[in-house]
Amino acid sequence: MSKGRIFSGMQPSGKFHLGNYLGALENWVKLQNEYECIFAIVDWHALTSQYEDTGGIQESIHNMALDWLSGGLDPERNIIFVQSQVKEHAELHLLLSMITPLSWLERVPTYKDKLQQLGDIGKEINTYGFLGYPELMTADIILYKADTVPVGEDQIPHVELTREIVRRFNSIYPPVFPEPQVKLSKAPYVPGIDGRKMSKSYGNEIPYAAPPDELRARARLMITDPQRVRKHDPGNPDVCTVYTFHKLFNQAATAGIAAQCRSAEVGCVDCKKQLAERMVEELSVIHARRAELAAHPVKVREILAYGAERARKLAAATMEEVRAAMNL
Ligand code: SF4
Repeated sequence: MSKGRIFSGMQPSGKFHLGNYLGALENWVKLQNEYECIFAIVDWHALTSQYEDTGGIQESIHNMALDWLSGGLDPERNIIFVQSQVKEHAELHLLLSMITPLSWLERVPTYKDKLQQLGDIGKEINTYGFLGYPELMTADIILYKADTVPVGEDQIPHVELTREIVRRFNSIYPPVFPEPQVKLSKAPYVPGIDGRKMSKSYGNEIPYAAPPDELRARARLMITDPQRVRKHDPGNPDVCTVYTFHKLFNQAATAGIAAQCRSAEVGCVDCKKQLAERMVEELSVIHARRAELAAHPVKVREILAYGAERARKLAAATMEEVRAAMNL
């Protein structure tokens, strides 16, 4: 039985990696059994930081759809669509921008951090669209009257802002929107091959769609316990990236691997090989599904069009209410 309605989205900003899969998509696949879920590929959000280079955006959207569908999101049970195919997101964003004090947007903690981060790598994002990112996110969520938003800890201030904007709207005009609640998702920590958090910007990612040989090559490059210099030195799995991946992909064998590492019964080369084979095995089903879908691009486009049609119906009904409430 559905507990409520969830909205969540991801930017189509490049290749999906295992951090995205283990940190978000796996959770969505579980949520689809409990909630009515609306999942959007938020391409307008991608423009907030990548407005200069839109050449690959259609390919990124298509790839993200392949990743989601092969990862187990069901396009019948969930509404899966591309944000820019439902223009009501833009209309609601505009209307909400009229009632949102500028200071509310400026104080979102991630705003200044990201502005600096991206500024440091030479991106000019001192734009209205970038500042308004959480406003657009608010529109995305409340357009569907979603009552639950699954987020990581760093996204909580965005949902808080959404709630504030909802309260402001509902106090100025006849109430239309419910206040969405945060559903804190405990994503596992997914390191990149160098041990830092997996991220495309660090170049340490393992692509989700990587073929077996690439998975094996990435596993070979993983950082191990730096104190373990020779094979007969005892190791410490708790500081080893390979071991963290064993916990993610090879749960049943972790106790044995940790013991063998500590007693130097297993060498790092073999340990990495074991991991790589587990990853290849676990991801092979997903990769087969992805290849099958990739061979039918028209079908993928139809799935997204079907999702957009269903999203548009809900969005249009909400916008009728909004326009009536605002006398438009
Ligand atoms: S044996 Fe495995 S767990 Fe231990 S340090 Fe080497 S790669 Fe890491």
